[in-house]
Amino acid sequence: MDKVRVVLLFGPQSSGKGTQGMMLEKSLGIPHISTGRLLRVKMEKDLDFREKFNSFVLRGDLVPDQYIYEVLFDRLQEADCQKGFILDGYPRNLSQIKAMEKFLGDYFGSYELSVVNLLIPFESIVQRVSGRFVCSDCGQTYNIYLYPPKVEGVCDSCAGVLEKRADDQPEIIKNRYEIFNQQTVPVLDYYQNLDNVKIFNIDGEQTIDEIFKNIMAKLND
Ligand SMILES: [Zn+2]
Repeated sequence: MDKVRVVLLFGPQSSGKGTQGMMLEKSLGIPHISTGRLLRVKMEKDLDFREKFNSFVLRGDLVPDQYIYEVLFDRLQEADCQKGFILDGYPRNLSQIKAMEKFLGDYFGSYELSVVNLLIPFESIVQRVSGRFVCSDCGQTYNIYLYPPKVEGVCDSCAGVLEKRADDQPEIIKNRYEIFNQQTVPVLDYYQNLDNVKIFNIDGEQTIDEIFKNIMAKLND
């Protein structure tokens, strides 16, 4: 049997990693899991959780690890994750790496880990975020400049209503980008130093199809 395949998708907010994650899901046959999306679904169901979570998000801060572990590790034990999965937005710091390594080792035994790192400058992010909308039902993201929906304000996949996210505000974008650099760079450095982990740096300013082709070529190499 093939090893469990773990793909970690890195990139700042609006680097297109959500879109690439969905394309990879179809192509690789393993689910794309966004911790952000998982947490949003959890918040809809659990009001206490939502209240605590929102106090972090509205400041532009990262959510403490215990909130993420609870939701993510439950998800990874579902049937569709048993051959592997693509993680979007996780892990974001060294303690999350350690928690994930422990979970993966205990639950899956051996696994193969690849890191896909989408590179994009801050000025491009600001422009992209100003055009960004997300489906309120399925979480699919759109951008009126880069990948608009076929019908304005309506999701192509599920016909859900597209809306702006509460945390897509300029000062929050800047805060998130700074936190991303402060916390994610050490995560990449950590993986860079592991012999059994492959890191693929991808130019995130290419077209969606070009980025996808590059990622697939690296993963299949
Ligand atoms: Zn939708």
